Amino acid sequence: MEEVHKNFYKEIEKQGDFIISLYKEFIPIKALGPENGGEGEYERAKKLKEIMMKYFDDVKEIDVEDDRVPSKIRPNLIGTIKGEKENTLWIIAHMDTVPEGDRSLWKYDPFKVNVEGDYIYGRGVEDDGQAIVLGIALAKLLKEMKIKPKMNLSLLVSADEETGSKYGVSYLAKNYQLFKSEDIILIPDAGNSEGSMIEVAEKSILWLRFTVIGKQAHASTPEKGINAHFLAMLLGINLYNELHDKYNSKNELFDPPVSTFEITKVEKNVENINTIPGKHTFYMDCRILPKYNIDEVMNTINEVVKTFEEKNNCEVKVEIVNREDTTRPTDENSETVKKLKEAIKAVKGVDAKVLGIGGGTYAKYLRSLDLNPVVWMTCDETAHSPNEYVRLSYIISDLKTIAYMLL
Ligand SMILES: [Zn+2]
Repeated sequence: MEEVHKNFYKEIEKQGDFIISLYKEFIPIKALGPENGGEGEYERAKKLKEIMMKYFDDVKEIDVEDDRVPSKIRPNLIGTIKGEKENTLWIIAHMDTVPEGDRSLWKYDPFKVNVEGDYIYGRGVEDDGQAIVLGIALAKLLKEMKIKPKMNLSLLVSADEETGSKYGVSYLAKNYQLFKSEDIILIPDAGNSEGSMIEVAEKSILWLRFTVIGKQAHASTPEKGINAHFLAMLLGINLYNELHDKYNSKNELFDPPVSTFEITKVEKNVENINTIPGKHTFYMDCRILPKYNIDEVMNTINEVVKTFEEKNNCEVKVEIVNREDTTRPTDENSETVKKLKEAIKAVKGVDAKVLGIGGGTYAKYLRSLDLNPVVWMTCDETAHSPNEYVRLSYIISDLKTIAYMLL
């Protein structure tokens, strides 16, 4: 290893205090999307832009209009440090968070950054403060040490990840040509404790609402009614069995390796115990392996429902609440995957594995552009939970891993 790299690694190890102070600047400024009852990212973005201006050669702001928030904009920030070559290593972060949830489950105030040894607590420190901190800390070190990286380093701090990315990465991917095929695109927004999980693929997501219409009656005279709740239970079981039987392929890239079809939420039906409900509504959350076409899955569902209606003398309404068809996976042999694996091996000493997940990230918008983004970081997966935390030692080792690719 060259001398400059050794020095860079040594400096990375000294960044603990800087990382904590950085968190203390932006975690207290809430950034909730309007769907979560918040006012968007405007205030947090203002602070982050001010910080980024200190360390990056150039900071751009791309505002997306949104009438639902007081500022009327959802800001996206891009900080860049010029490298020797034209290609770019991207760190894509998001600055919005989910709400803190039940406060009584937190041991500290979620909007004050609390440090306990290696652990830093707060809502949004991991999801996705970790990515923000990684990008800014790298830029700061490059600037301070006057090092020109091999390629450009760009940190994209985006809006609106938690509720769909319509005002964030999805918008940028559609309307701006920010990314080139030779770029390395890291999305530090999920990972495991070893830092050995590289997410390269996602399942399709399908959320459905089923409303069974029967006939209300007194519970003591069931023959006068058609029990919609009971029928909904039977229909749920039919759907569950049919879908699992028909779409039973395994793909070991994914964890879990199968398609999942889960019956989840129900809506309130009648007020009292002694009434047979005439209407019952339930939901299904389906995560479907990429080999299956979602139109075909919908056909199967509609057939099951039709047969059920005829057999049980009831009516069933099927509505799609959310549908996100998956795109091609990131190429496992792409430069990004190869370089990241090499860096993880060199820094953390572990063999990283590529993996597909059931949850949706905004990597899919970039995959649909024929880019090869990877979702990766080192974390204990505390996102969205009470007592969300990051570990400084993980952040330091992630910084070294990214620096390995940059220098
Ligand atoms: Zn996230």
